[in-house]
Amino acid sequence: MNAIEKGYEIFITGLVQGVGFRPFIYRLALSYGLTGEVVNRSDGVRVVIMCDSETAGRFADDIRKQAPPAAVVRSVVLSETDAGPYTGFTISPSRNIDETITEVSPDIAVCAECLSDLDTDQGRIDYPFINCTDCGPRFTIIRSLPYDRVNTSMAPFEMCQRCASQYGTMSDRRFHAQPVACNNCGPVYTLRAGGTEVTGISDITGIISGRLAAGESVAIKSVGGYNLMCDAMNEDAVAGLRKRKQRDMKPFAVMFRDIDVLKEYCIATEEEETLLLSWRRPILILRQKKALAPSVSSGLNTIGAMLPHMPVHHMLFRKVSTPAVVLTSGNLSDEPIIISDPVALLHLMPVAGCVVSYNREICNRADDSVVRVAAGNTILIRRSRGYVPQPVVLRSDTEGIFAAGAEQKNTFCIGKGKAAYMSQYIGDIKNVATWDFYTETYNLFSSLFRFNPSLAVCDMHPEYLSGRFARELAGEYGLPLVTVQHHHAHAVSVMAENGLDGKVIGVIMDGTGFGTDGHTWGSEFLVVSSSDFERYTHFDYFMMPGADAAVAEPWRMALSCLYGCFGSSYDFTSLRLFREIDGKKLASVIEMMDRGINSPLTCGAGRLFDSVAALLQLCTNSSFDSEAPMRLESAIGSSTMDYYPFSLNGTVSLTEMFDAILGDIARKDHSMVPARFHNTVAQIILAVCISIRNDTGLDRVVLSGGVFQNSYLLEKSLYLLSMKGFRVYTNNQVPPNDGGISLGQLVTAAERRRLCV
Ligand code: ZN
Ligand code: ZN
Ligand code: FE
Repeated sequence: MNAIEKGYEIFITGLVQGVGFRPFIYRLALSYGLTGEVVNRSDGVRVVIMCDSETAGRFADDIRKQAPPAAVVRSVVLSETDAGPYTGFTISPSRNIDETITEVSPDIAVCAECLSDLDTDQGRIDYPFINCTDCGPRFTIIRSLPYDRVNTSMAPFEMCQRCASQYGTMSDRRFHAQPVACNNCGPVYTLRAGGTEVTGISDITGIISGRLAAGESVAIKSVGGYNLMCDAMNEDAVAGLRKRKQRDMKPFAVMFRDIDVLKEYCIATEEEETLLLSWRRPILILRQKKALAPSVSSGLNTIGAMLPHMPVHHMLFRKVSTPAVVLTSGNLSDEPIIISDPVALLHLMPVAGCVVSYNREICNRADDSVVRVAAGNTILIRRSRGYVPQPVVLRSDTEGIFAAGAEQKNTFCIGKGKAAYMSQYIGDIKNVATWDFYTETYNLFSSLFRFNPSLAVCDMHPEYLSGRFARELAGEYGLPLVTVQHHHAHAVSVMAENGLDGKVIGVIMDGTGFGTDGHTWGSEFLVVSSSDFERYTHFDYFMMPGADAAVAEPWRMALSCLYGCFGSSYDFTSLRLFREIDGKKLASVIEMMDRGINSPLTCGAGRLFDSVAALLQLCTNSSFDSEAPMRLESAIGSSTMDYYPFSLNGTVSLTEMFDAILGDIARKDHSMVPARFHNTVAQIILAVCISIRNDTGLDRVVLSGGVFQNSYLLEKSLYLLSMKGFRVYTNNQVPPNDGGISLGQLVTAAERRRLCV
């Protein structure tokens, strides 16, 4: 022997549990011919191998290089140990160590090998809950750490002999796959319709495909909650579902049979295709190429597209003739997606007439995630299944900080060391059901991640319910409470993701957010550090006549912008838009502004998009969140670099722009307005950033806020800014909308705590 053989410990942290990591280590050890052991601990995975130091180094390298696809290896630490000797290589029982924790895997779409097992594996022929160490449910079935079967909702299912033997056989693909199951021992589906109950997956998929073909709907329990399904090619079916769900115009997500069919209907770049096919299987917002039933997308030129991710989806597409089905959240309007079987029977049976459940509990609710790609940037619109609870790794220590998030599209965030664990998409906390979801999820995250709060942080808005939760938590535990301005938090979310410190230029184009002057902000040009900010400039304020009514009715914002730019004597009825509004209503809204009643001030960029969309009569009354901006973006036609004039004197004045837009409308030249308007906003961003750079020398720009879900605006802004030498950063791991606020709050609070300010 030319080298000394001794014990080496390799300690791995990151997302290394529930992703087939121990079997991977086992196979690697066998290929090296080493003895030793691997053990899951609550703080990571510990490997001991008996070998010489050179081999140990190579082994550690291979762990990094060859880790399973869904694993995220954050650190690999090699050291000597006294452990050993061993007679073989073993996987030892999990050990629970102190307060530090390791990561929990998001849910993973069924893998190709399992799909082929559906035809060949005796015991799992057509078994709709097939899984292995590389795939299957994770976050949605876990109750506590470590990730072992007893701590999941698989606990009540006792493994049959064959499953138990595969679970215990190190060379098997299902070795230590916690949700392992088969036709003899695992969960099963039940279909209920018209007072009858059907079990047996082949009968169930048969009935579903019959219903889809007949234009009927089905409510079906998916990984993280119930979905409603109908044939996406059948207009009567889609319109009927829309009506029964009382979902006016909001586009439905669509699941396509496979990637080839999807590309017949949508335009997908290589990057988008990779994301669609990834184990995360999100919904992607893609440009439509060929029409589905018109009611699917309600006149938008995009489709929310996804591919099958559960075995039952694949099995269903073998039976149905349609290339695509609508698959939308099963919920009551604005309430969280339903996860409980009795609640589904109560509320979804009347909508769908048929409910397909399975007898495994969903522990953690998770909607489908929604993603968009623009200029190589991943824009997360809704971060949930397949992404949560993967943490954002930070530079700063956030231990013990609870960040409550915002109000709409809420998420919260907890700090564990240098990791930020953001909750799944909770939704708009304005009804009891969403509030309960929020508090339940906080309790779950607290126990799952062994979180002990030492500081709470929330938005400055005095009426956000998330703020109330933070105040109550602070009161209960005697914690300090920090508030962070909404757009400061947006900016810091980008800094945190990109590891930026020092000062940067923050450009936040947003809907609403409470400002330090008591007005509603949302077109913010800031000079930002993680702990503080200065407001450099913003768009001119306009009134919101009727407050929330002005958000719901974009025509009011059109009226307000013209009123603000051209005064009360402007001849509003010279525009067709206002001639089509009830005369009395129009007069009362004008009077509201004349007298300054119930007309709070806003400079939110979202309201500006509303206003222009209304002027073009693309959306005068909004039936879902962001409808007007989405229609305006969707209306961008042929490409142009043209933009409207504007001026910067202290604030950004838009009077010249509105004047020019009215000119285009008067000339019946509507078609170029959407592109010219978007270009104008991008040109304003460029002009203000240049001005800030001249004043401060800063050249790093962070872009955030819900308006940057608009891929045209994001691409244009990125292009213009980088052409002028700015370094531009965006959100890629958390949403630019209010779903990302909690991350910014967390990091701002951490930085203020560090600086003792
Ligand atoms: Zn698998
Ligand atoms: Zn079994
Ligand atoms: Fe916001």
